[in-house]
Amino acid sequence: MLFQTQIDLKMRVITKVKEMQKVADELRKEGKIIGVVPTMGYLHEGHLSLIRIAKEKSDVVITTIFVNPLQFAPNEDYDKYPRDLERDVKLAQSAGCDIIFHPSVEEMYPENFLTYVEVEKLTKVLEGEFRPTHFRGVTTVVAKLFNITKPHIAVFGQKDAQQALIIKQMVRDLNFDIEIIVAPIVRESDGLAMSSRNVYLSESERKDATVLYQSLKLAEKLIEESERNSGVIISKMEELIKSKPTAKIDYIAIVDPNTLEKVENLSEGKEYLIALAVRIGSTRLIDNTLVKI
Ligand code: AMP
Repeated sequence: MLFQTQIDLKMRVITKVKEMQKVADELRKEGKIIGVVPTMGYLHEGHLSLIRIAKEKSDVVITTIFVNPLQFAPNEDYDKYPRDLERDVKLAQSAGCDIIFHPSVEEMYPENFLTYVEVEKLTKVLEGEFRPTHFRGVTTVVAKLFNITKPHIAVFGQKDAQQALIIKQMVRDLNFDIEIIVAPIVRESDGLAMSSRNVYLSESERKDATVLYQSLKLAEKLIEESERNSGVIISKMEELIKSKPTAKIDYIAIVDPNTLEKVENLSEGKEYLIALAVRIGSTRLIDNTLVKI
């Protein structure tokens, strides 16, 4: 119990922008390297792996926890997105986080908010086709979080490969002086990529959800066996996914990992991103793998 109190005391939860900026300024003045891990909370091992990486590379780790309304379309799951700050604080601290920034929606988007950040082209494909306003919400909030937490480094997950690429593009284009680190996908023991949204899955849906990973593994195997035609690989993945009663495919794509342009025939010596989005019942899941030929 005493131990628990000490843990709670050590962790600082900041909710105001001005206070976060002041703390970040002080840390920078002390010469501390600041690492930030932006999240929407309901933390799992995937998030914690990002915090651990940030801890290795910086002196002070700030985890931001903010369910960003701007990146949800009206028909999406903003309201029901899982939230549990108390649990998140404990988990984040156990992974080495020093400060949590947890603002309200009003604090981030006051009434007269009028400015948005938009990355072109990369945001129009894959996820962008199905969620046309999503990445504008992501880049706007991440730009704000960078200005609020003033990090030297920021860690994102390869789980959201397109998001990580878009953030890197934004950082380059807008000259944010921040190193972007992309961390590997953390999976459950049966291969399902960890996601806060996995809690939505019923027992039978949870079983069907492993098909995303299985289809990526199938693609890797086909490529290993010298299949080079994307159409053939994708149709075999589709066949496998469609064998699950609750699964509906939004897209499966084999693309250049830097431009996200679709590739018809795979060439030796190159790397490709195989990305997919599948709805399992009403839960939309994404996953991907990088394959070097
Ligand atoms: P989210 O809270 O879902 O917005 O995710 C916050 C960050 O954690 C993003 O950079 C995600 O890519 C990353 N992330 C989410 N799930 C995983 C995972 N299973 N493995 C690695 N990183 C993840």
